[in-house]
Amino acid sequence: MTKPNFEKPFTQQEGMPDEVIDRAVEILKGGRLHRYNTLSGEVAEAASLEQEYAKYQEAKYCIACTSGGYAMQIALRSCGFENGDKILANAYTLAPVPGAIHAAGGKPVFVEIGNDWHIDIDDLQSKAKSNGAKFMMLSHMRGHIADMDAIVEICEEYGISLIEDCAHTMGAKWKGIRSGNFGRAACFSNQTYKHLNSGEGGFLTTDDDEVAARAIVMTGSYMLYQRHGTPPPEEVFQKVRLETPNMSGRMDNLRAALLRGQLPYLDKNVQRWNERYQTLEAGLRKSENLYLPERKQHEEYVGSSIQFQPHNMSVSLIPRLVENCTKRGVEIKWFGDDEPKAFTSRYDSWQYIEDLPELPKIKEVLSRTCDMRVPLTFDLEDCNLIARIICEETDALAT
Ligand SMILES: *Cc1c(COP(=O)(O)O)cnc(C)c1O
Repeated sequence: MTKPNFEKPFTQQEGMPDEVIDRAVEILKGGRLHRYNTLSGEVAEAASLEQEYAKYQEAKYCIACTSGGYAMQIALRSCGFENGDKILANAYTLAPVPGAIHAAGGKPVFVEIGNDWHIDIDDLQSKAKSNGAKFMMLSHMRGHIADMDAIVEICEEYGISLIEDCAHTMGAKWKGIRSGNFGRAACFSNQTYKHLNSGEGGFLTTDDDEVAARAIVMTGSYMLYQRHGTPPPEEVFQKVRLETPNMSGRMDNLRAALLRGQLPYLDKNVQRWNERYQTLEAGLRKSENLYLPERKQHEEYVGSSIQFQPHNMSVSLIPRLVENCTKRGVEIKWFGDDEPKAFTSRYDSWQYIEDLPELPKIKEVLSRTCDMRVPLTFDLEDCNLIARIICEETDALAT
């Protein structure tokens, strides 16, 4: 009997709904793509998007910009981060995060990982105590939300400004509070593989008047800052407008239209991702050679990707497992590779960072960590087949 293969691409997103396309065409025909290019009395698409996302996020302010990585850079700077400042950050993250810290002139202090891919709270506590960092960039990497009560407590104890990287948690919650509402600012990505897709794009959200005002000026508002969707009061701008540099990274009206049109579908899509995630999870748990930690019940996650660890086999066999799955059409990524590939890399490949530490735990955990995207173009039957293929190939190599 021949074994079934999977045929669909792992990188295919869903197309835009018709009404989104219609609105985008309308904007193109109008020609006013720049967010400050408005007719008298007209509210720019980018400003409406900011109002709508701030409302969704339950945050006071939303600033739309060019990318998630850019949002991180200006979040840091608008929270007062300066050249040479240290910043705590999880070592398990994606390359744009250390890149944003580097661009802002900062020195990351990498924190270890736990077996459940959460930041290691004990290591965080001890590094917060010992090295005097006044900032923390917390990536909810692959949507795994750590114990936010413990993290907020540590930040309060040591006077640390928390900035959340919510690239994988847009739409997710912890104890009923939206991911992104735990610190001084949060950053979101609207790149094609995230939860809203405008090709490229980012949001910064905050409840802090001055952080919002500085971020608006930094994105390149010139003196048109009051045309933003959620501007703080004029007196706040008066304080910061001349001492804040313009770092040009605005959202345009075309991308804003794409995002506005998708936002009403976000919660429904979160459910659809989770149905797929849970189908995959149940399927993968059928193999005793695959390990998936239980997710914390406080976490209302968005299962737009899934992670698992093959056990009962030597780590040296994992590249073979990846290859065998790929041959059957299932694209899994491996975080354990010494050589960074595609979107994955390990902290020790960011060699522009001075004094990269030796972090044994993260190397151990990532040496077995496999990762897979869950695009909404897969249906539940697809997920069952994918899980079956991964189980079969794992069991064939395990002892
Ligand atoms: C995608 C991503 C980013 C950066 O987003 P861009 O919009 O691509 O700049 C940051 N952090 C994580 C964890 C990401 O996955």
